[in-house]
Amino acid sequence: MIPLSVPNLKGNEEKYVVDAIRSEWVSAAGNYVNRFENNIKKYLKVDNAIACQSGTAAIHLALKLSGVTPHSEVIVPTLTFIAAVNPVKYLGAEPVFMDCDDGLNLDCEKLEQFFKEECTLTKKGLINKTTNRCIKAVVVVHVFGNMAAIEEVKELTDKYNIKLIEDATEALGTCFIAGKYKGKFAGTIGDFGAYSFNGNKIITTGGGGALVGGSAKDIKMAKYLSTQAKDDELYYVHDNIGYNYRMSNLQAALGVAQLEKLEEFIEIKIKNYEAYKAKISNINGFSLLKFNDKARNNHWFYSLCIDNNEINRDELLQYLLKNQIQTRPIWKLIHTQKPYKNNQAYKIEKAIDYYNKVLNIPCSSNLKQESIGYIVRVLGNIKK
Ligand SMILES: *Cc1c(COP(=O)(O)O)cnc(C)c1O
Repeated sequence: MIPLSVPNLKGNEEKYVVDAIRSEWVSAAGNYVNRFENNIKKYLKVDNAIACQSGTAAIHLALKLSGVTPHSEVIVPTLTFIAAVNPVKYLGAEPVFMDCDDGLNLDCEKLEQFFKEECTLTKKGLINKTTNRCIKAVVVVHVFGNMAAIEEVKELTDKYNIKLIEDATEALGTCFIAGKYKGKFAGTIGDFGAYSFNGNKIITTGGGGALVGGSAKDIKMAKYLSTQAKDDELYYVHDNIGYNYRMSNLQAALGVAQLEKLEEFIEIKIKNYEAYKAKISNINGFSLLKFNDKARNNHWFYSLCIDNNEINRDELLQYLLKNQIQTRPIWKLIHTQKPYKNNQAYKIEKAIDYYNKVLNIPCSSNLKQESIGYIVRVLGNIKK
């Protein structure tokens, strides 16, 4: 079986994890956590970062620090992994769902239209006319490592005075190579950026995440909240309700080794994407979705688009599976999921279309060139 995506742990992972075990620092204190945070800061060229237990935890903290309170609202994409949205509910707030663009990222033209036509900017903040609730933030996901239209979204969030949270959980290493934010990484442009090091992401710590932000004070607060809000460690004084969200030293040891490999992984991912693309361009009915050409994208996941209406997505998935090729449909749209059916969804159109015609295809960094050739041959042989 050619798997969709598996981790690649052939560098210093074992050495550092063994070192962490021998040091007997395995929990939330220890050298590797500091090292990992410092290396993340250096890599992303930011001043403030904390490592935490998961990308979901990072998003939760970002929302909390953005002032998201019970009965307020957050704009989110409907086409994404549900972990980008659930933390809105953890805080007792409500999501409003937006459509996607042709890069599968949040549609910023519809966002602008929504602000203009559906909201009013008052002294109390930005009010959604339909629900009468106050909108506090927008979550933008850089889907599959593809840089979203963050420049345009930031203009809107600045104009309407709400917070911008970048869910860069899939996009570590994606950076602008042109435009206003040339040289800046996905996750470092908004008020907060969240990263994930779950097993399927471009680098992994088994499970883990990081939060970055423009404000040193905010990130300090995030660290405090992530470590049970200890106001006095000796006497167990807690002036706030905190969380157990800190990354462990064992996870961080993996992370330090994985980060050493990140640029190599991205190079391989880009090379494999180009190899697929060249071969797929020769077969009718399929194409690969493009990445943002203003960015060096990390090419984490590849999206095979079925352009021929006669090919059914699920039949294709089964056909590939029979030929030992694992693929996956993109996520069931969140505004259609049980906990979110009653939430507002604004003119969702493209997301439905892409949901029905996109499959993610094998993209591991250790994918062989022969496998790419084989996968494309199998695709070309499909009986229509
Ligand atoms: C993976 C992922 C998350 C959550 O990250 P975890 O580390 O698994 O908690 C959030 N949003 C998106 C878009 C993701 O792909």
